[in-house]
Parts: sequence; structure tokens; C-alpha cells
Amino acid sequence: MLETEELWEENVRRVTPYTPGEQPQQKNIIKLNTNENPYPPAPGVREAMQEMDIDLLRRYPEPYGDPLRKALAEETGVEPEELFLGVGSDEVLALAFLTFFHGEKPVLFPDITYSFYDVWAELYRIPYRQISLNEDFQISKEDYIFPSEGKDGIGGIVLANPNAPTGVELNPETLEEIIAAHPEVVVIVDEAYVDFGATSVQPLLKKYNQLLIVRTFSKSRSMAGLRLGYAIGNKKLIKYLYDVKFSFNSYTINQPTIILGQAVLRDRPYFEKTVRQIEETREKSASRLESLGFKVFKSKTNFLFVTHPKLDIPDLFEWLKKRGIFVRHFNKPERIRPFLRISIGTEEEMEALFTNIKEYIIGKEK
Ligand code: PMP
Repeated sequence: MLETEELWEENVRRVTPYTPGEQPQQKNIIKLNTNENPYPPAPGVREAMQEMDIDLLRRYPEPYGDPLRKALAEETGVEPEELFLGVGSDEVLALAFLTFFHGEKPVLFPDITYSFYDVWAELYRIPYRQISLNEDFQISKEDYIFPSEGKDGIGGIVLANPNAPTGVELNPETLEEIIAAHPEVVVIVDEAYVDFGATSVQPLLKKYNQLLIVRTFSKSRSMAGLRLGYAIGNKKLIKYLYDVKFSFNSYTINQPTIILGQAVLRDRPYFEKTVRQIEETREKSASRLESLGFKVFKSKTNFLFVTHPKLDIPDLFEWLKKRGIFVRHFNKPERIRPFLRISIGTEEEMEALFTNIKEYIIGKEK
């Protein structure tokens, strides 16, 4: 039967949603598809959860997420008023798009980057232009410093550093040149993966009032399930963000998040140890993949972006999945179809991945 459109549908805000990575629920799989941390949260998190006063749930939480916001201010070396907490950095970014890109001029971001950016732009009807990365997945700074719209022709800039899904880090001087060239618009730098060896633009906050940095507890802090992200920016930017957020929902940072977020921050040595371990496994895995003929982009994240001149990548992706190993394959944009994004797992998980890839290659050579 053909579905017919009903009258009321004319008034619907229609959008094509972001497609998140698969979250398979079966046990005994190796999950390397959504850049989660393979190590458990800091041990203090379990204790904090067990000791949590259940009566807290009866009450609404503190709207700014205090005292978590204060603890995070200490950890990041800024004032609490320079911090905005959100339900994952996805919520922070979504609200930042809504708050800061309220004009007619296009917002710029790369063609290959976090594929949620164009979804938010479409949702809010924000004009945008995606700029092609070069063959090595690098940006050309002139594209942003001298955009084709003219010096005052743009509505904002969004750059993920390091970029996703490529893992490639932007040169810090290049980033500063871009930010310095555009005092007339907000520049968002998405630092979701910055803890895995990249350089943060945080020192630039003192110089540029229009810079907003967005980070998350989902990757380096092992807390993807908690849903906690944050933005750092000058007090005026943060106030504007809260004005929009409080016009939407005041109580998004729930009581368990306030407690468990603080527990995570209390264990800095555990954070450093697990991040170092992931970096070590990443470098080892990159060499092993190269020895199997893969081209591996230099990564400063907890994932590797790889391709192979001889292998049918979508086929390898399906083959691994049948063996319970989930990695990420993107169908769009077209030019990243021959690539896989592989999150860094434990040493054992990576071992299993290599065994299976080797088996696949041997099978093809027969
Ligand atoms: N930015 C980038 C570049 C990401 O890859 C992700 C993870 N999908 C996010 C932001 C959002 O992460 P979260 O909402 O878990 O903080």
C-alpha cells in the first residue's frame, strides 16, 4: 500500500538524523566501532556509585551541575563561569550551533569531519559550506583565512582537533592563524580526542574571546555511558550558552552525573596511565597494520583510520563483523568508503583483530 502524505505533515520539521555507530548488545564481541575507552572508569567511580545517597534522586539537581563544575574548573585551570556542562559533547555542540550560528552567512567546516556538524546545521536551518580536505586529509588554511565568501562573509567555523574520523591533528599555529583571522564569528574547536597526544588550543582562550573549546568524558575518561561533555570559553560566551540551554531544559546534568563526574576527576594517575596505555597500543597497532600493507594515517586519537590498496574494505568490514569484531565503516562521503576506522582496544582485543585480518588476507590470496 502506498503511504499517502497527511495534511498536518506539511508543518513537520523534517530532518535526516545522524546515524550513530552500532551498539550491539550481545556479550563476547570485540567492539572497536565507537571510540569508547577499553578500560573501566577510575576505581573510585564504583565506590562513589555504591555510596550515593538515593534520597538525592528525590530532588532536582543544581542547574549548573555544581559542585562538578567547580571540580572541573580546578582540573582544567579555568574559572567555573568559563565552563559549560552538557549531556555529552554532542549536547554541548548542538547548543553551541543553536546559540552562536544565528545568521544568514555560511558556517565553514571540512567535508570529512564529525558527521554530526551538518546534521545540526540542517536541523536549525543554518547555512553551511563544507570545504574539501586534501589527499592527506589536511586542511588548507587559506580556505578558512580567506574564504570565498570574503573576509566578513562567513557565519562561523567548526574544526575538530584532532579531526574525526581521520585522527589527524591540525598544526597549532595554523589553528591560531584561522582563529585570529575571524574575530567577527565564533570558532568552535572540538577537542573530543585531544587527550591522546594532541595540543590543545586552551592557551589561546586568553587572546581570543570568540573561541569555544568542546571536550568530553566519553573517550579519555572512560565515561561514554555517563553522557558528560563540556565547553570552555570566556564568561560571555558561556553565559550566552546557558541562556539558550535554560530556555530549553534547566536540569540536564543529573545527580549521578554530578557525583560520578567528580569521582572520575579525583583519580588523575589512573587517567594518565590508561591514556598512555592506549597511545602505546595505538602506535604498535599502526605498525602492525602497515606491515600487513595498510595505509595508516598518523593518529593523535584513540582510533586509527586505515585503507588498503588491495583489499575490498566494505567486504573486510562485513567479514570482521560476522566474527564478532565491530569496527566502523562510513558510506559517505564517497571518498572515505575505502577506509575503516578502528578504535584502539586492549592489547588482547587488538591481537584478535590482527589474527582475523591475517586470516582474511590469507583467504583472499588462496
Ligand atoms: N565530537 C567528536 C569529534 C566525536 O567523535 C564525538 C563522538 N562521537 C563527539 C564529539 C561526541 O561525543 P560525546 O557526545 O560522547 O561527548
